[in-house]
Amino acid sequence: MTRRIIIDTDTAADDCFALFVGLCHPEAQLEAVTIVAGNVEFDQQIENALLALDTAGRSGTVPVYPGCRKPMLRPWHRASAHGDGKGNWDFPKPPGGAESEHAVDALLRLVDESPGEIDIVAIGPLTNLAAAVVQDPDFPRKVRSLFIMGGCNNSVGNVTAAAEYNFYVDPEAARIVLRAGFATTIVTWTLTLAQALWDRERLKKIEALDTPLSRFFSIVNQPTLEADEARGIMGSTHPDSLTAMLLVQPDLVKRAGRCHVDVETQGELTRGYSLFDWRADRNPPNATVVEEIDTEGFFAAMVEILSTSTGENAPSTRESV
Ligand code: CA
Repeated sequence: MTRRIIIDTDTAADDCFALFVGLCHPEAQLEAVTIVAGNVEFDQQIENALLALDTAGRSGTVPVYPGCRKPMLRPWHRASAHGDGKGNWDFPKPPGGAESEHAVDALLRLVDESPGEIDIVAIGPLTNLAAAVVQDPDFPRKVRSLFIMGGCNNSVGNVTAAAEYNFYVDPEAARIVLRAGFATTIVTWTLTLAQALWDRERLKKIEALDTPLSRFFSIVNQPTLEADEARGIMGSTHPDSLTAMLLVQPDLVKRAGRCHVDVETQGELTRGYSLFDWRADRNPPNATVVEEIDTEGFFAAMVEILSTSTGENAPSTRESV
């Protein structure tokens, strides 16, 4: 069944590949992209989103709305792994521009126009969504489902030992969203590290596709690969594209459970720590947590996406690439 999707993103590297899922998967209809403060400089994130649309041959077909430029209470904290989020490569400037409407207004308006029909894939800090909840407490019930990339299912984080990046950057927003009553599914860093990690052998298979999307992928993925390998992770990690893919291809989920998830906002050592409380009798579940995926199936589905024909004008086929 085709899903009508908004992707809320701090667009860098794997966020771009999540946009490709929204743009190219036969079951996805990407209706808007909303940008939130996260991975790299805010205006660079807008450019990266426009570049991803252009690479997929879809410039001007999906609106990009700039949203919250900083977290609710905290200073902005960039991700260290992504460079400028586009492989530090000198791509030609993408055509088109962002909309003037604020992302939070766009989220509220688009969902109001089609209550119960829009799915949101949130792959950055949750600031835009928290702001939407504060503005309209009924917003969560009008959203068909919310897929969040965030948190660690009782394991070590990727920013601190306690916390995964998206929840670390804006823990107050994460708490607001998790307590708001969305039909929530969570894809964690824990799952990503164990099951959405692509080693150099897999990455060579993507390179060998030699399509505009695969060429873009190989360039843009390189800093993530190098940063991951420097941390002892043997490959590049793909949390955001996985989150988008699981929404449109739910058969890739092999095991998931209902759980109560909340986020630490006060901890001295545990800012952004995600509490996964599996005691359903003590703490009523508020989310479905994906625990196991079809790893080969996910890779095959992404190969399919990156094989998509995009026309001749993709930026990674122009100039010097
Ligand atoms: Ca992201």
